[in-house]
Amino acid sequence: MEKYDVVIGLEVHVKVRTESKMFCSCANLYGAEPNTLVCPVCMGYPGVLPVPNKEAIRKTVLAGLMTSCDISKFSKFDRKSYFSPDMPKNYQISQYDLPFCLAGNILISGKRFSDREPLPEKSIGITRIHLEEDVAKSTHFPKSSGIDFNRAGGPLMEIVSEPDMTSADEAYAYLTVLKRIMRYADISNCDMEKGELRCDVNISLKPAGRKEFGTKIELKNLNSFRSIHRAIDHEIARQAAELDAGAPLSQETRGWNDDKGSTYLMRVKETESDYRYFPEPDLTPITFSDEEIDAIRAEMPETPDAKKQRFIENFGLTPYDSEVLTNEKAVADYFEKAATKSSNPKQIANWIISELLRELANSANEISECPVPPANLAELAELINKGTISGKIAKQVFTEMFQNGGSPAAIIEAKGLLQVSDSSAIESLVDQAITENQAQVEQYRTGNQKVLQYFVGQVMKLSKGKANPQMVVAMLKEKL
Ligand code: ADP
Ligand code: ZN
Ligand code: MG
Repeated sequence: MEKYDVVIGLEVHVKVRTESKMFCSCANLYGAEPNTLVCPVCMGYPGVLPVPNKEAIRKTVLAGLMTSCDISKFSKFDRKSYFSPDMPKNYQISQYDLPFCLAGNILISGKRFSDREPLPEKSIGITRIHLEEDVAKSTHFPKSSGIDFNRAGGPLMEIVSEPDMTSADEAYAYLTVLKRIMRYADISNCDMEKGELRCDVNISLKPAGRKEFGTKIELKNLNSFRSIHRAIDHEIARQAAELDAGAPLSQETRGWNDDKGSTYLMRVKETESDYRYFPEPDLTPITFSDEEIDAIRAEMPETPDAKKQRFIENFGLTPYDSEVLTNEKAVADYFEKAATKSSNPKQIANWIISELLRELANSANEISECPVPPANLAELAELINKGTISGKIAKQVFTEMFQNGGSPAAIIEAKGLLQVSDSSAIESLVDQAITENQAQVEQYRTGNQKVLQYFVGQVMKLSKGKANPQMVVAMLKEKL
């Protein structure tokens, strides 16, 4: 592949989470009975007047600030004219030359695809973020097609990247970071299955080192980040093979077939479409003062990257652990609450990553529904540190808390799980283990040190996991 440079730019549509649609008061909701959330405005009746949704505009500006964009103090909406069955008024209200946000960037450094090495330092440019109205959703049946206008008129941002990415891994990282930012700032859930995030991928190849870009091909119908990753790898190989064979590439739009693992031709762009953009005559331009932009800036949450860095510095986490814990803001908040109550934040991080997140995944629960409050996890960890219970018993207590609630102290009390640190009690168990395992005693005495672990296991078993392990080891060494 060293023969070619890969150039990738992404166009990402993100559904903005608001109460109502972009230009009317219909609910902006997914999953309702088709064509029940509609009115003359979002069904494109002639003569109706759009009224812009302030909250959608605020969230778009917030998205711009979160991605280091410049916010335009003067923007406007434009009409983009085209015919489509899912756009009955034959134009879409969008933004052309004066979008709300311009010239931003996000960092993809340290992100990784699956278990590959983390990516080196790199920033991906964001060309623009504009706001437009979503179109209706068509569904095709064997003999007919259906159209659902519930989606029509919903607020939709388009985030256009610079052609700065050079691999499937980088595109995957960019999307992961972008989605995380949108979720942190409560701009959108970005659930691809609900169409809240849709991505078109532009790819071209050029001979290594050449400045001028090659012909770009656009990929559509991509339904998950994983299929985007696969589609890009496949498309890079396909274009390289074409170029190797001396075939000139033409500007195409290709679809991705996830089952076959290949792309197919949808249409060839013969001429540039002429959308005849012009300023939307039913809407006045939108202006922002510095104070208004600052007011939105003041509501910006800490960015995921800043939080990750702060966790590393304040709590001594490894970059990897901090990355995992800051993936979802709710998980990060949970960690922080528990960690500030604990003498050992690293231990809390381990418990969340290896126990809590696993239990949540198994029970298909969100962390917001977690039955173990952060304070109880911190308490459990302190009980281990004080020697009240062993780490092994703590796991039992944790499972119990997760399934039936309750505080660690109450569970330990009710189930009689206190760690045994009484030396006479331990001594009798150690004696029993020695009497019952004479052959192993012989092995130990003739120099096989490893047998000690076997005895520790036996004593722990006899104590049902409750004996203090340090005391058991010390006493065994003495007696053996
Ligand atoms: P169009 O007018 O066809 O939509 P744009 O210039 O708006 O093209 O770019 C659309 C997207 O394609 C952007 O994300 C941009 O970064 C990317 N892009 C532009 N040129 C190329 C290229 N030659 N190869 C890969 N991606 C490209
Ligand atoms: Zn409506
Ligand atoms: Mg474009």
